Amino acid sequence: MGRKLGWHCDSCEKGEVFHLGYGANALNPPEFVAEAARGDHGSLLKVLFGENPPVKVDVRMRGAHFHCPYCQRIYSGKVAYVQDDTGAIFRHTIAPDRCPHCNTVVDNEASGVRVRSKGIQRYVDHIWADGCPFCGAEVERIDMTWS
Ligand SMILES: [Zn+2]
Ligand SMILES: [Zn+2]
Repeated sequence: MGRKLGWHCDSCEKGEVFHLGYGANALNPPEFVAEAARGDHGSLLKVLFGENPPVKVDVRMRGAHFHCPYCQRIYSGKVAYVQDDTGAIFRHTIAPDRCPHCNTVVDNEASGVRVRSKGIQRYVDHIWADGCPFCGAEVERIDMTWS
């Protein structure tokens, strides 16, 4: 089940598409596991996914979106949920350190920065109603759902 939500401007050719509910709960994606073992995601994950880990863990990944507090625009990232056999879980966010739109340093873990589907719906609704954020022209609506 997924949904694509976004907009496209025919005047200036800009646009954005957000994938909601995609890649939900991908279990132990090999790319992430290799990166974590290499230390790309910090020392804790390097230990947990390295050789001879102290506990066996699984990771579930899903796509996530973040709302830049400076320019109010949205960018994509991922969240990894790492779980051991006691069921304890912690979350590791994978997202750009700088907003890809305005290049300001963003704290992706700060409260209110991560947005859920509703926040994306509001953001897209606003652009659908007000027009292209770049040139003001009316935008084409993108809204597709599949199962
Ligand atoms: Zn435009
Ligand atoms: Zn920004």
